[in-house]
Amino acid sequence: PAEPRLIVARASGITPRLTLVLVRDITERERLAEMRRDFVANTSHELKTPVGAVTLLAEAIESAADDPDQVRSFATRLSAEATRLGNLTSRIMSLSRLQSSDELTELRDVAIDEVITSAVETHAIAAESAGVTLVRGGDRGLYVRGDVQVLSEAVGNLIANAIAYSPPASQVGVGVRGVTDAVEIAVSDRGIGIPESDQQRVFERFYRADYARSRRTGGTGLGLSIVKHAVQRHGGEVQLWSRPGRGSTFTIRLPAIAAPDGTPAPKKTKK
Ligand code: ADP
Repeated sequence: PAEPRLIVARASGITPRLTLVLVRDITERERLAEMRRDFVANTSHELKTPVGAVTLLAEAIESAADDPDQVRSFATRLSAEATRLGNLTSRIMSLSRLQSSDELTELRDVAIDEVITSAVETHAIAAESAGVTLVRGGDRGLYVRGDVQVLSEAVGNLIANAIAYSPPASQVGVGVRGVTDAVEIAVSDRGIGIPESDQQRVFERFYRADYARSRRTGGTGLGLSIVKHAVQRHGGEVQLWSRPGRGSTFTIRLPAIAAPDGTPAPKKTKK
């Protein structure tokens, strides 16, 4: 469709170069509009299940009004479904914010130590109840330009997955490393791992490697998609190493900046 538009524009006196830019802009806008349509369709589909469950359980409570034990049991399930729905909704909102063209608003110089502390603290209770030990290590005093909340959520999602897909009494490592002009944050587990055929797809929204297995963990299939978009919005990338039965390591790499005290961004790859 680019050709005819070019010809029309030339006839109306607009330079071909400008027209090319315009055509590219229209294509980009169409692509975004399509992404938005897909997102709304996927999301409505994913919301139907928990909304349906909440409705059914509420009805069940109404009809079991004479039986306090049943009411209590339905109410417990209702509360669990409502929590799931709440988590799903807040993840959908995070992802839709990250996918929109809005700029990140809270940009500042962010200490990676602060990001790690916040992400680790948020998941400390989950780790404890799963019997998993979080082990934090590596370089300190590294900085990036970014939004601390978005970055903490991204690292937190990796930690949450590492805990959820690990056996009890295992360790989850959260390591930081300064490499040339960049900071690497690695979250590694010795859990079930991800088959090679799924390793690309796990970053897609609502994709879950093994549906039956993942369902038990109560996830949403949005965690890694949020990680990918959050990192990309910071000019970084996320990589995955995994072997089924051995474990997984997700590594976020972000452009580093100088520390507020003037210490320059890391230059040499450290071991
Ligand atoms: P979920 O909410 O299902 O965890 P994610 O987007 O965070 O959604 O992850 C997508 C899928 O990738 C998960 O359903 C799971 O199958 C797989 N996965 C993610 N992290 C890990 C991990 N650390 N170990 C094993 N599998 C993982």
